[in-house]
Amino acid sequence: MTGFPRDGFALLIAGHCVQLERFVRRGGAWRPIEFPSAVAVIPHPDGGVALFDTGYAPRFHTATAALPYRLYAALLPVTCDASDAVVTQLRQRGVAPEQVRLIVLSHLHGDHVAGLRDFPEARVVVGDGALASGWRTRSAWVNTRHGFVPALLPDDIEDRLLPLAGLAVGGTGLGGRLRNGYDLFGDGAAFVLPLPGHTDGHLGLWLPRVGADGVLLVGDAVWNERAFTHGELPPPPLRGDRPRCEEVVGELTRLHADRPELAIVPSHCVASLDRVGGRG
Ligand SMILES: [Zn+2]
Repeated sequence: MTGFPRDGFALLIAGHCVQLERFVRRGGAWRPIEFPSAVAVIPHPDGGVALFDTGYAPRFHTATAALPYRLYAALLPVTCDASDAVVTQLRQRGVAPEQVRLIVLSHLHGDHVAGLRDFPEARVVVGDGALASGWRTRSAWVNTRHGFVPALLPDDIEDRLLPLAGLAVGGTGLGGRLRNGYDLFGDGAAFVLPLPGHTDGHLGLWLPRVGADGVLLVGDAVWNERAFTHGELPPPPLRGDRPRCEEVVGELTRLHADRPELAIVPSHCVASLDRVGGRG
């Protein structure tokens, strides 16, 4: 494998959407800005390559071509061609799709799962309750309201799920409600952390050995740094369940105050991604 540190990690940007800044940040401007979709690549000496989320892929366009899913695409205009897809970027760095053995999905919104079908050998980790029962048969309008596009999920996803309950629970060193996590490789290199609020079963991934004091990937639990520098909640509807979102924001704010060198990285936050080298 080339292009990645053996035990480190890398962030790739797999497409982006455009949204009004005001929609994602209180007091933000009424101007369209780009929101990159980040994918974390975590090579492991024994566990192959793991991904946190899969970003956009060109199939997002076909999967949302018809109503009602077209409304989702219209609300969040997406730019992603074949060269942006994470599978293409990995191939360019010498990583074949079959080498990706584990994928942790923060949640199942289209901007996090559109690349999933490109990795047929990977086991998939989702949070408890993320894959709602009846998802195959419920109305397309309900799916659209939840930002959920079933055509993006592999047909055999249930067979490939790696249940959180099958992973050992270990101490993360993060304290508070984040003190325990699910040990992804069984060696303390990566912990899956429940960060519910934005959606049911939303997950984060804690990489304690990366960077100056670790990297905490928080998906869409929060959308920008003000969430943990100022304790600012995302505006509705991004925060989802308010009490649980407040809890997560409180924990991240505490963590940032205690360990300022620890990099907290929301999926779509340009400043945070730049800080850990996610766009270069
Ligand atoms: Zn997202």
